[in-house]
Amino acid sequence: MNELPETTDVLIVGAGPTGLALAAVLCDAGVDCCVVDAVAEGGNYSRAVGTLPRTLEMLQQLKVAERMVEASNHAQRIRIFSGDRDRNIATLHLRRLDTEFPFAVLQPQHATEEILLTRLGELGGVVHRPLRVTALRQSNHEVVVTVADAGGDERTVRAKYVVGADGTRSDVRKMIGVEFAGETFRQRFLLGDLELRDGSPADEIQLFFSRAGGVIMGHMPGKLHRVCISVDEVPAKLTAGTAEALLRERAPARKHIEVRQVVTDSHTRVHHRVAARFRLGRVFLAGDAAHVNSPIIGQGMNLGIQDGITLGNELVRTLRTGADTLDAYERIRRPIALDAVGITQRINDAGTQRSSLRSAVRDLVLPLSVIPRVNRAMITRLSRLVDR
Ligand SMILES: Cc1cc2nc3c(=O)[nH]c(=O)nc-3n(C[C@H](O)[C@H](O)[C@H](O)COP(=O)(O)OP(=O)(O)OC[C@H]3O[C@@H](n4cnc5c(N)ncnc54)[C@H](O)[C@@H]3O)c2cc1C
Repeated sequence: MNELPETTDVLIVGAGPTGLALAAVLCDAGVDCCVVDAVAEGGNYSRAVGTLPRTLEMLQQLKVAERMVEASNHAQRIRIFSGDRDRNIATLHLRRLDTEFPFAVLQPQHATEEILLTRLGELGGVVHRPLRVTALRQSNHEVVVTVADAGGDERTVRAKYVVGADGTRSDVRKMIGVEFAGETFRQRFLLGDLELRDGSPADEIQLFFSRAGGVIMGHMPGKLHRVCISVDEVPAKLTAGTAEALLRERAPARKHIEVRQVVTDSHTRVHHRVAARFRLGRVFLAGDAAHVNSPIIGQGMNLGIQDGITLGNELVRTLRTGADTLDAYERIRRPIALDAVGITQRINDAGTQRSSLRSAVRDLVLPLSVIPRVNRAMITRLSRLVDR
């Protein structure tokens, strides 16, 4: 186990996809950095399933895009069904996108994290765990961070810069007193790895929009589907029977989904929030620490990896030249986060719309996506190629 250094150029708090991508960029450029994470092991329950074209393009810098592509299923289209009207109301085609990666990679988040962690190791980086950041104070020239191990023993690390990549409940964000404006909704998403009959094909992501609630479903490599189902109340236990009843209520009637097995399940509240600032002095926020949204169109992990790579490049430039160009990070990434959170909120509202009038309008408007220009504009925005 590598010793935690007493000083470093960049201290990264959190070894989720955001922190790992950022650390890999810094190690690749030879920047002295250090990653700490509060938990003893990376999570083995999974959250995100889709890596989008823009994220894959950015991951090329780290030479891991090919590994992601090899290990996964590839969704070439997103098909949206109205459960209320029993029909396919839109099909958004990723394969028409002008990119080297005209598809979304489908694999569990822990597999994506494993690829990033392996790459970080190849570049000489390590994650120090379990070490929780408990306090932080910054001056004009450094940040002094206190970390505690599992037994409560504390040490300090002095860093030129600190990045809070420590997730939705970010301690770093609270320590620097940045507001996390937005809303938390009553609605929850159930998330399960399920073995299904008549689920989505391996080359497609399917969404069901209905007055009962929304569903997003993707086929991971192997037998399992990752399924997210919006609900008002979380069932005491997600059995195969409960999951099947919830899916059938939301799916078009002609789909006869059968749930053979629930392998894992969890649930999450829906939040739509963006931090008021992504930088305060020498401290930065990235990934879920900076923005959070509904899992309905799978933006969260993608935005986080992109934040990590963008911030990493800005830190490398600043540390090499001595000229502080780091305000560019917030200038570039905060508007993207606001746009992604806004569009996710609209899709979440549309997908779970209770009003029969509004759901009827949705089912009339979305079919306009057959117009090639509309289709392309929608998928370019959802895949975030719009941000190039
Ligand atoms: C149910 C669900 C489904 C989702 N589905 C999708 C999807 O389909 N597509 C998608 O793109 N996204 C999805 N997401 C979102 C995605 O999982 C997150 O956006 C992503 O994990 C964010 O990565 P992160 O590295 O910013 O934060 P995290 O993955 O949360 O990692 C933060 C890390 O910081 C560590 N940490 C926390 N506090 C401290 C501290 N004080 N000191 C040290 N370490 C600390 C934690 O241990 C953790 O390892 C989903 C999320 C949920 C909950």
